[in-house]
Amino acid sequence: MTRDEHAPFLENIPAYAIGALDADETAALASHLEGCASCRTELAEYRALGESLLTALPPRQPPAALRKRLQSRLLGAQKTKRLTFNWSFSQLATGIALVVLLAMSFYSITQMRSLQLEQARLNRQIRTGQTVMSMLSYPATERLAINSESVVGSLLLDRERNIVALIVWNMPQLDETKTYQIWLINPQDERVSAGIFRPEDDRVYTTYIVFPEQSVTDFVGVGVTIEPAGGSDQPTGERVFKVDF
Ligand SMILES: [Zn+2]
Repeated sequence: MTRDEHAPFLENIPAYAIGALDADETAALASHLEGCASCRTELAEYRALGESLLTALPPRQPPAALRKRLQSRLLGAQKTKRLTFNWSFSQLATGIALVVLLAMSFYSITQMRSLQLEQARLNRQIRTGQTVMSMLSYPATERLAINSESVVGSLLLDRERNIVALIVWNMPQLDETKTYQIWLINPQDERVSAGIFRPEDDRVYTTYIVFPEQSVTDFVGVGVTIEPAGGSDQPTGERVFKVDF
């Protein structure tokens, strides 16, 4: 069969795929499809296109002839029978159900992720709290006052177990571009970074525990500055407080 002999059948395939052909045209195309693999492929593609609308394929324009035919059929269908309506309604219902399912799975995944993050945050809070309690009850722990213009609190220093803990009240929340950074200060007045932290949104006090790589006895003080998010190699920003051991 030549290309030209195919043409009228090919043009009818989109309409056939959605049941919009006349009975005569349907019968003619159906018998042509039995013997023509390339038209069957075309039909399969159109059906797949319908199913894949949910997965966002780039839109394809229907042929102008099909559009006209559909428009006139839709107008006609309002006055006559509801056959087409029933068929489209089940398709529509399936489509809506799929969209709802997709939205629900997306929502569940998002929910699960945020629950995991929340759980990790609470675990951190509990561990920090337990460390602070153990330090407070440990006889050798020194408690030093943090008392600057902007914040108050305590610095717990455990030279034997090599732990430093900060408990600071009313530490202002920072915007996303900034972080607090803690520095250990040595006798030569040099600063060694001991980590970055942000205040918890739901608490009026901020706790931060440092387990220094070097012995804390090598240092003579602790300072906290405001640095760009991610922290700096050396202090560059405003000092929040400084405590001498
Ligand atoms: Zn064909």
